[in-house]
Amino acid sequence: MTFSPATIEQNCLLPNSADTPGQRHTEAQTHRGTHTHRGKDTPRQRHTEAQTHRGTDTDRGTHTHTHRGKDTPEAHAHRGTHTPRHRHTETQIHGVTDTRRHRHTEAQTHRGTDTPRHRHTEAHTHTRGKDTPEARAHRGTHTRSHRHTEAQTHRGTGTPSGMMAIPDPPCVVTSPDCPPASTPSSPGPPASTPSTPGPPASIPSSPGPPASMMALPDPPCVVTSPDCPPLGLKSLRVDDSQFQASSYLRMGLGPHRARLNIQSGIEDGDMYDGAWCAKYEDQHQWLQVDALRPTLFTGVILQGRNSIWSWDWVETYKVQLSNDSETWKTCMNGTEEAVFVGSRNEPETPYLALFPQPAVARWIRINPQTWYWNGTICLRAEVLGCPLPDNLDFRHHNYKEMRKLMKAVNEECPRITRIYTIGKSYTGLKLYVMEISDNPGKHELGEPEFRYVAGMHGNEVVGRELVLNLMQYICREFRRGNPRIVRLVTTTRIHLLPSMNPDGYETAFEKGSELAGWALGRYSYEWVDMNHNFPDLNNIMWDAKENDTDMVKTANHYIPIPEYYTKEDAFVTPETRAVISWMQDIPFVLSANLHGGELVVTYPFDCTRDWAPQENTPTADDSFFRWLATVYASTNLVMANPDRRICHSEDFQQHNNIINGGAWHTVPGSMNDFSYMHTNCFEVTVELSCDKFPHASELPTEWENNKESLLVYMEQVHRGIKGVVRDKMTKKGIADAIVKVEDLDHDIRSAADGDYWRLLNPGEYKVTVWAEGYFPSMRRCNVGTEARPTICDFILIKTPRQRMNEILAKGGRLPQDLQLKLRALRLRKLRASTKAINQRRKHSRKARGTRQRLQTD
Ligand SMILES: [Zn+2]
Repeated sequence: MTFSPATIEQNCLLPNSADTPGQRHTEAQTHRGTHTHRGKDTPRQRHTEAQTHRGTDTDRGTHTHTHRGKDTPEAHAHRGTHTPRHRHTETQIHGVTDTRRHRHTEAQTHRGTDTPRHRHTEAHTHTRGKDTPEARAHRGTHTRSHRHTEAQTHRGTGTPSGMMAIPDPPCVVTSPDCPPASTPSSPGPPASTPSTPGPPASIPSSPGPPASMMALPDPPCVVTSPDCPPLGLKSLRVDDSQFQASSYLRMGLGPHRARLNIQSGIEDGDMYDGAWCAKYEDQHQWLQVDALRPTLFTGVILQGRNSIWSWDWVETYKVQLSNDSETWKTCMNGTEEAVFVGSRNEPETPYLALFPQPAVARWIRINPQTWYWNGTICLRAEVLGCPLPDNLDFRHHNYKEMRKLMKAVNEECPRITRIYTIGKSYTGLKLYVMEISDNPGKHELGEPEFRYVAGMHGNEVVGRELVLNLMQYICREFRRGNPRIVRLVTTTRIHLLPSMNPDGYETAFEKGSELAGWALGRYSYEWVDMNHNFPDLNNIMWDAKENDTDMVKTANHYIPIPEYYTKEDAFVTPETRAVISWMQDIPFVLSANLHGGELVVTYPFDCTRDWAPQENTPTADDSFFRWLATVYASTNLVMANPDRRICHSEDFQQHNNIINGGAWHTVPGSMNDFSYMHTNCFEVTVELSCDKFPHASELPTEWENNKESLLVYMEQVHRGIKGVVRDKMTKKGIADAIVKVEDLDHDIRSAADGDYWRLLNPGEYKVTVWAEGYFPSMRRCNVGTEARPTICDFILIKTPRQRMNEILAKGGRLPQDLQLKLRALRLRKLRASTKAINQRRKHSRKARGTRQRLQTD
């Protein structure tokens, strides 16, 4: 079943008859540390927790839950004494890792409007009023920056002698549409996620997303503790290009120097001065920062100019906000324009000013009003703001809805997107691909091709939704001018296949998140597991290597598909066939295959040698594959959380959430292995979540957990070396040239236009390129640590024989220089072979001599 967050709100949160007015229990606050519930709440007592709790808490009730810093199954066993009289289970003693930033929040909100701040996994038992096994699983991951907000009014009917209001049974009783308590697949973010800080729960003046898409409102939170992080002017996370100013004195005092704590060079006047300084001294000067996305701005920190020679600072200023950088609204204090106090008496101390009314905008301006009388308008600044969550279409999309969404994205971004199909499923559903590129429909010389494939197992649905979110996100951010996305789109050709097994998906979708079970919808319509359905090229290659004494001659790449597999009656699903021909048509460089049911990234080979059930089976590119897997795993907010619990029974945390496919369990005929053996494309498998089919209410969290990973993984396509292999005479690209890297037993080949991409870790490499009819060419290529490829072009010279053959084939006459060259070549060959023969003779004569001597001695 699916529904919009709005419906959920209605179902779960509207008052209902079960409410007793006297027992409203509100927890909308920041709990710092843990809290004390004192004494008894009388039945009619209005119990509100609107305070900031600090220090040690005691809970005098009988229902104490210990949330330890570290999660062990035992620790979670939530041993409250759940008696009928104490059904409320929310008093916690937060363990060691709880810090002041930990916003504890109780849980009624987990209903379809999860936002980044809502990343906790507590299966709050009080929503059930009953201690069920699921509820007991309460595996919260309270990390340092773990914030969860609680914005609800618990409208429980308390038991008369209850210590507090009794939580929310009405939800269970009257609202079958409530989502299940959050699952362990989405625990809180790790401590270090400054780049995606949680948005504030309430954005009263939000011009952006509709309310239904946003976090549930939490007015007290915004008003009393905006607590938004800095944008990163000081840390340099905000790029120079995001600054603008009304005017500036000179380049070294340009707007990009308006960063808190920036230091000037020893002398004033160079390119590196200690502030932004306006050129004019009037009240119309401004410094502007583009936050790149809708942001709730909460404050500004100001500092004067860093200089040995001059004293300049801004004493008071106004702030203006804009959503389009054209119309501006001044920050108000009630009905008046707010005037903030900046630096006082000296330029080095930073001063914080919080806005009386935080507001949402994309651009912010600092507009100086007064400044040090003997100086000019100069400042260094930091801006506080919470980026708003991505307003994407967070729900499960069946086939029709998926198609609709893709169409909408295509209409929103027609210049950078194109929808195409690669074939049909068994029941005739089309396999849609969204292409995203600055020139959709075309391969551009040198531009690498990337793909995400999701939904190969139809019931593992997170990947499908993430890929749909991703296309929406890229489209929107591209339009917004987000430099990272613009760079990605203009330098990469991206292909997104959200549903490789639409038949399976539809089956699972009909039953829904909870009732589909573990395996329904995994297989194709013909009951084939597509991840075992690709041709097994591993054993073909290994057998060839074993039987061939001349190792050089055995192909280490582009292993052809065996004949049995290509036959009409071969048991190959139409979906697998479609993907194979897609892989053959496009020169993909990098890919990931998105699955679910675990939290780990696996890399080839998936198939073990000699049919071992489980054995580490590395490829020649093991180190790069490990890098790729690590890139995804280390940026995924769930995997990177050291306190996360294991999904089912295996602890991948001890391997940093990456594992060789074969070391986990052997999978002959996997897509990853096929991709690597048959094409140039490197592919890993990402197991995205413990739960294969989480409830729609968890999709926003899944997006936040995976957003950075999905982006940064795509960016890896720009590593290693790339270039074009060309013919020296014609300058034309040479297709199918073999690019061989010394000591790596896996070659790749150039694409139709002669361009090639060889993914490599940093280092120095000896690279040789071969093409039929050409002399090989060798050069050294250095790969740096930056995420950009080293350009290594090759120019190949045709062999005289090749030229001769081509000329003769055309019926032409050989030019004299070629005839001479051929003769010289023949002579050289003759000389070399004569020399070799002579040497061999000499050796055997010597050997005979030695033997004779030995015999005579
Ligand atoms: Zn799977």
